[in-house]
Amino acid sequence: MISAQRPNVTERPWLDPAAKPQIVLEGIGKTYGAFTAVGSVNLSIYKGEMFALVGASGCGKTTLLRMLAGFVTPSAGRVVIDGVDMTEVPPYERPVNMMFQSYALFPHMTVADNVGYGLKRLRLDGATRQRRIDEALEMVQLGGLGARKPHQLSGGQRQRVALARALIRRPKVLLLDEPLSALDKKLRESTQFELMDLQYEVGITFVVVTHDQDEAMALSSRIAVMDRGAVVQVGTPAEVYEFPRTRFVADFFGTANLLEGTVAAAEPGLVTVRCADLGCDLYVDDAGRVQVGERVCVAVRPEKVQLSKSPPAGERRNRLKGVVWELGYLGSRSTYQVKTAGGKVVTAFAQNERRTLDWSIDWSDEVYLSWDANAAVLLQA
Ligand code: ATP
Repeated sequence: MISAQRPNVTERPWLDPAAKPQIVLEGIGKTYGAFTAVGSVNLSIYKGEMFALVGASGCGKTTLLRMLAGFVTPSAGRVVIDGVDMTEVPPYERPVNMMFQSYALFPHMTVADNVGYGLKRLRLDGATRQRRIDEALEMVQLGGLGARKPHQLSGGQRQRVALARALIRRPKVLLLDEPLSALDKKLRESTQFELMDLQYEVGITFVVVTHDQDEAMALSSRIAVMDRGAVVQVGTPAEVYEFPRTRFVADFFGTANLLEGTVAAAEPGLVTVRCADLGCDLYVDDAGRVQVGERVCVAVRPEKVQLSKSPPAGERRNRLKGVVWELGYLGSRSTYQVKTAGGKVVTAFAQNERRTLDWSIDWSDEVYLSWDANAAVLLQA
């Protein structure tokens, strides 16, 4: 979904040992009494990144964002921006601004006054203020709508007013809490691209909180996945999706078949896992860092599982037999739940490449499921 030309994905400063991060969170944590909302989090974010904080409800994403903004005082650790310790600096003196989930627009004020509100503390003269407002409205493609009230705008336009208000002070970092959650699905998708274009144009670092994994993958240069107050993995969307480090990450991003077993052989480049549930061995292309006898989990994405009515060919290819238990038509693809002999259900997605009203593979059909050894990831059980 991301255009290859976007600098935020082609430049990878996090891979350059000489590159200095713009934002450093050092052992940052927040406790409320005995409850730890955020554990000791370490993160480095580079200038110009679109960095997403993702995780289930209550995992601590908003608390982390608010510590960055200065609205929540950390119980431990430091927030450093451009080399300056911001931990004790109040929110309005930090080079960051925040766009809230609800947009928090004043209903009685015009769009221009809502946007200009962001300049209040700067005490600018009237002409300079107006010029900055006009520029900000142009930037979010709302030029000419300054005289309207928020209720005279669409949801997408209201979101852009909130963005203009947050950007008008030219912060170094823009923090966005669920920036697209108030929009319907179709609008959310187009607004994702607008947000990416805008971020590229203004060159400001964006840190985005979202619980929507698809949104995080479409938008971000990198993603930090959070679970119960901890960051469990940081990586590009493709790293997090294709190479999840834990079962939690594999399961949280998209759909994953998680198949447990015991390592039967571990040669470099090929690990054999004996799965009692499936009554067969699975092969995983892996560096072989596991020991024979170790309990492991094989994670395989449904789109990497092929379905066929006849036995698939190929040496050391993972191959299971089962019966179609459930199937769902989703337009662009169909999803199949296949029950294997041992009772384990495996999910496979099939792309609907041709127009047809018939199922080539139907309910109760006997089918083969197969995938290459390099399509699966080996994780701790
Ligand atoms: P959501 O996606 O639902 O907004 P989140 O990941 O942003 O969730 P946070 O709002 O950061 O989660 O909250 C993390 C945890 O800290 C939650 O369990 C929440 O109940 C708790 N928490 C947040 N603020 C406070 C507070 N002021 N006092 C006590 N507990 C709090």
